[in-house]
Amino acid sequence: MLQQTRVEAVKGYYARFLAALPSIESLANASEDTCLKLWEGLGYYSRVRNLRKAAMEVVDKYQGKLPEDESLLAKLPGIGKYTAAAIASIAFQKKAVAVDGNLLRVFSRLTCSMLDVKEEKAKETCHQFLFERLEERPGDFNQALMDLGEIICLPHGVPKCDLCPFSDCCKAHMAKKELDYPILSKSKEKKKENKTVLLFSLKEQIAIRKRPEKGLLASLYEFPNLEGTYSQKEVKAYLEKNGISFTKVISLGNATHIFTHRIWKMKGYCVVLEKKIDDPSLLFVSKEELNHHYSLPSAFQYFLEIKRPQNM
Ligand code: SF4
Repeated sequence: MLQQTRVEAVKGYYARFLAALPSIESLANASEDTCLKLWEGLGYYSRVRNLRKAAMEVVDKYQGKLPEDESLLAKLPGIGKYTAAAIASIAFQKKAVAVDGNLLRVFSRLTCSMLDVKEEKAKETCHQFLFERLEERPGDFNQALMDLGEIICLPHGVPKCDLCPFSDCCKAHMAKKELDYPILSKSKEKKKENKTVLLFSLKEQIAIRKRPEKGLLASLYEFPNLEGTYSQKEVKAYLEKNGISFTKVISLGNATHIFTHRIWKMKGYCVVLEKKIDDPSLLFVSKEELNHHYSLPSAFQYFLEIKRPQNM
């Protein structure tokens, strides 16, 4: 859960997830929909899919007991080098270095590294540098460096070098060039996509559909949507062309959702229907059913939360 997400944001989800699925076996036996629902709102849904697959593999291959070895852990779905090293060192006290952004920043400043921290080479060099210096208590070693990076060797703004145990050997500090490191190449610009989201409403029900099994937000539910930005007039023309009987089309405003590599600019409309649309991919559900049984990504939640007409 902590991959790409802050501790504060995760706490409630963590407690809820463990209360519902308290063991590796229970996770392995849970349906994908149950897991997605428990994850709803956390984003990066492939994490929970992989977590479930990893639990199934641990039950199958390791009699339900998580392997302690870093290389075996790294073979489980969703567990990369960082997570494998973090589990091996923190849970099992194995000698392993969990290189995250904090460790990379500390390493870059300590050594005045000219390597771009986005490149694999920087991670490998950082790993080797710290691995050679790791003598005991690997879990504490990693967590201390993570904390140092988060609290003292700050990512944004001036690091608190006067509180740092490395201030007398840190090359960047000695050269008074702390802010010149780490070296970071510019991120690629995120791709912008325009969408028109349609909330088809019929009495107390609303239409949703399941997204494809692969790709962005795979297997989650969504409100039907169209590529591009439609005006109210264009939405009406679209509905008429597709034989969808409606009484009103009401604008729900605009929303923006930022993903890792793309941005959705959305325009929403509530379409009050006269009768159900004849489309087997659409499910008409009550708001309560939607809340309890279907995983709706946050990108679409905006249109659910804003004030809509009485009959929705
Ligand atoms: S001395 Fe300053 S720049 Fe160097 S590692 Fe410590 S906090 Fe970071």
